[in-house]
Amino acid sequence: MQTVDVIVIGAGLAGLTTARELGNSGHKVLVLEAQDRLGGRIYTDDRLGVHLELGGNWLHWLQPHVWAEVTRYGLEVDRGPRSEECYWLQNGEVVKNDLAGFLAFIDPGQRKLVARSAEIMPRPDLIEGGAEFRAADQLSLQEVFDGLDLSDEERDANECAWVGHCNGPLDQVSYSAAIRWTAATAGEWGVMHTASSVLRITAGNSTLVDVIAGDVKGEIRLNSPVVKICHQRDGGEVTLADGSISRARRIVNTLPLNILHKLDIEPPLSPVKREASEEGTGSRGLKLWIRVKGPIKPFFAYSSQHHNLSVIRTEFVNAEDAVLVAFGADIDRFDFENIAAVSEALKVWRDDLEVLEVAAHPWGRDPYAEETWMIQRPGAYTRSQAELQRNEDSLYFASSDIANLWAGFFDGAIESGLRTAREVHTSLGAAYREFPRSADQ
Ligand SMILES: Cc1cc2nc3c(=O)[nH]c(=O)nc-3n(C[C@H](O)[C@H](O)[C@H](O)COP(=O)(O)OP(=O)(O)OC[C@H]3O[C@@H](n4cnc5c(N)ncnc54)[C@H](O)[C@@H]3O)c2cc1C
Repeated sequence: MQTVDVIVIGAGLAGLTTARELGNSGHKVLVLEAQDRLGGRIYTDDRLGVHLELGGNWLHWLQPHVWAEVTRYGLEVDRGPRSEECYWLQNGEVVKNDLAGFLAFIDPGQRKLVARSAEIMPRPDLIEGGAEFRAADQLSLQEVFDGLDLSDEERDANECAWVGHCNGPLDQVSYSAAIRWTAATAGEWGVMHTASSVLRITAGNSTLVDVIAGDVKGEIRLNSPVVKICHQRDGGEVTLADGSISRARRIVNTLPLNILHKLDIEPPLSPVKREASEEGTGSRGLKLWIRVKGPIKPFFAYSSQHHNLSVIRTEFVNAEDAVLVAFGADIDRFDFENIAAVSEALKVWRDDLEVLEVAAHPWGRDPYAEETWMIQRPGAYTRSQAELQRNEDSLYFASSDIANLWAGFFDGAIESGLRTAREVHTSLGAAYREFPRSADQ
């Protein structure tokens, strides 16, 4: 049986960050990853003629943990083409304007919705327990929209901007999710909008994964799905699907929240963690890439949360073709792999686009994720945020899904990995004094 100081389960950003930090602190680390690739919900694939981000896409210098990695590794960052046109729906008609026109149209609604975020959540980097935040957390985003007194057109436009952010039906998304996002940019919804959807790593986000993995002093084992964890105060054992067992003084579990409860854990997860995982996140939407015949002008388009595709925009543009990225609230709503169905969905705005190819990863059906990016359901933060971060014996947790500041983003994965590595390092210092390491460790 292999014995190490720390086993990290999962080689996404949270797991790799945890492993890098603990390896650099002198601990013997083993990373066990179920799949045959690194990165988890970062998944860059060369398709449709570009570095296609099937998973996480954009990042920003306002996201401090991930931007520190951009600086540390000298990663080149660029942006997609600026939209020259914007389409949205008003009084049953398609309006064609520019992006500034759309943003001005939704500005009053967005202000009503989230302008007080920084007051309601003054320190989004910490767990918020204030009464006003807790009250907001009980509401769905839909309930708040319903009370905003917007015209039908304003409401559709404002709502679908949030489908782009939340990637789920708005009645299943907590209002506090919107507050958390906007509090991270001090209450400025336009800044939040930019921070979450413009800049990308030029060579693909997998390069970020690869450079962090390259700095892990320890083994990273692919094709190693963990099926069982047994943990006690002084250490634990991890069993893989092939029956092999490894032992460590500390175990860090980085599984996405939606699949956490599916692992056989002894003693069982605390009831709050288990219920949070069983309830699941609100993140059941679709991210779809569409290659269309060119030339076209780069454009943005918004419909409503009820359409198959709520938001669409041009991410790459060439003379002969362009690659669009689209988001919908529900992955099960239409056959997004069918070119005819996608062409039909685009006709909401324009019938002059010829769809050549489509590409997507069905995250909601991926057994190693079962979700896109984490968005909490109403009440979930208040019920479970603090508990999800708490270790149980020698079993620790790290994931973007349980982060504070930019939870659900790359930044949150790194924040969570850094926090957990610090906690594990501190607890191992005490453990080495109590149970000294053997000469071969
Ligand atoms: C479609 C989509 C779009 C997104 N867009 C953005 C964006 O634009 N900007 C942004 O910042 N973020 C975005 N995100 C979110 C971001 O990608 C994630 O929050 C982040 O990558 C999660 O990192 P993680 O390490 O916490 O989890 P994961 O990346 O999910 O890592 C968990 C790892 O655990 C592994 N695993 C699971 N089960 C087992 C098991 N039993 N045994 C061993 N290993 C196991 C998984 O294979 C995976 O590698 C997006 C995500 C998706 C899916």
